[in-house]
Amino acid sequence: MINLTIRQMSELLVSKQINVQELSGLFHDRCRVHNQTTGALITLNNEINAAELLNAQASIEAGDSLLAGIPLLHKDLFCTQGVKTTCGSKMLENFVPPYDATAVKRLADAGMVTLGKANMDEFAMGSSNEHSAFMAVNNPWDLSRVPGGSSGGSAAAVAARMVPIATGTDTGGSIRQPAAFCGITGIKPSYGRVSRHGMVAFASSLDQGGVMAPGADDCGLVLSAMTGHDSLDSTSANQPPWQWKKPETADMQGLKVGVASAWIEGLKDPDIKQKTTEAIEQLRCNGAEIIEIELPHADLAVSAYYVLAPAECSSNLSRFDGVRFGYQAKEISDLESLYRQSRTEGFGEEVKKRIMIGAWALSSGYYDAYYLKAQKVRRLISEDFKKAFTEVDIIACPVSPELPFKHGEKVDGISMYQADKFTIPASLAGLPCLSMPIGFSENPQGRLPIGLQLIGRYFDEQSILSVADKYQQQTEHHLQVPEAFQ
Ligand code: GLN
Repeated sequence: MINLTIRQMSELLVSKQINVQELSGLFHDRCRVHNQTTGALITLNNEINAAELLNAQASIEAGDSLLAGIPLLHKDLFCTQGVKTTCGSKMLENFVPPYDATAVKRLADAGMVTLGKANMDEFAMGSSNEHSAFMAVNNPWDLSRVPGGSSGGSAAAVAARMVPIATGTDTGGSIRQPAAFCGITGIKPSYGRVSRHGMVAFASSLDQGGVMAPGADDCGLVLSAMTGHDSLDSTSANQPPWQWKKPETADMQGLKVGVASAWIEGLKDPDIKQKTTEAIEQLRCNGAEIIEIELPHADLAVSAYYVLAPAECSSNLSRFDGVRFGYQAKEISDLESLYRQSRTEGFGEEVKKRIMIGAWALSSGYYDAYYLKAQKVRRLISEDFKKAFTEVDIIACPVSPELPFKHGEKVDGISMYQADKFTIPASLAGLPCLSMPIGFSENPQGRLPIGLQLIGRYFDEQSILSVADKYQQQTEHHLQVPEAFQ
């Protein structure tokens, strides 16, 4: 049961071989049993929401949604009415939103059943989930290693099949990198595709909500229900809801796949290099044409991102002042110390570091040299992609230059930031991109998952998900479950 796809689970529900309570109950139990070892959830709802179950049941009977009755977790930065939304931070430890994020509401309307909230790096800043204010998350494939971040709780929960689906968000790689580290599929749609209303903001021009699931078909089905214009988010694209179409065969005839060979040749990890090469070869065997592309400015992406994202975060996080919402310091003498103490005590180290970098980059005298320069680099990177996409339909490249690392291994921020070098370029360009599992390492470090990234043209989620689905019609990497969680 735990390894079924949405379509398979839906069939069981419709044919009454299982009912909605039993299906959600089964995964709720798994969340309870495995949360101690994985740390994947910040909140497991005590009870499964009765209204959601009723709605799911009605939807199943009406036969109007494949998603009806399918349980899921939301990353703990999606506001959930009446359920704590901490954003992995002490600052929001007791914040109970009075409304649902649009994405949450749309999935509930489609009949999905929310079991709880997934752990994450504080305010989505990080690539290891070690920056959660509550607990680190362990990678189900090797508990001594990180699951990636910032959507590491979502990724670990899906990898351990504590839930079949989890939402995530991706600003510079936070869906794709943890998906790769945990051996599952994760898609970040085009910027503007999914409403950001009710998502706690980190860097507003980059943040996008998306989906994590074992396979691409599941991601496509759930993402479809999240999309569509939302008047509550001014950056939500004025487009009708997108509808995923599952391809019938694995044939890739006519598809042009762009590859920047230098990215692959530069990989230091032999297993990642080999699996990436093999996966691209598989696309070729299925009929795709592999075309060499160049992304000349992509090397500057990490530097530009770590100016732009902190700049936006310094502004977004100024709202947490100890007055309007969030943590309020007790020992204060005046208004100034209320602000200072609340922020000093409420935010963790990584968040404070970024607020300071951002405030500095935006300050007069430095603005032109850093913020403006980074914006120009961002534009050049977008132009590189635009040019590449005149010749190819999708781009295939690595997700992470490294295998999942050990807890505490990356203590200096810079080496963690550098590990985002393959995910950040597509984020800066706002393009849809995903990570899919392509095998496991075989070296002495053990059996650790490896992912391949597929990047698509703006608003072409269909092509990257189709290629992933076709690849998954012929492979079983995405169906592997770590032994301790089978
Ligand atoms: N790892 C990147 C960072 O720390 C990306 C985070 C994200 O996508 N939310 O900013």
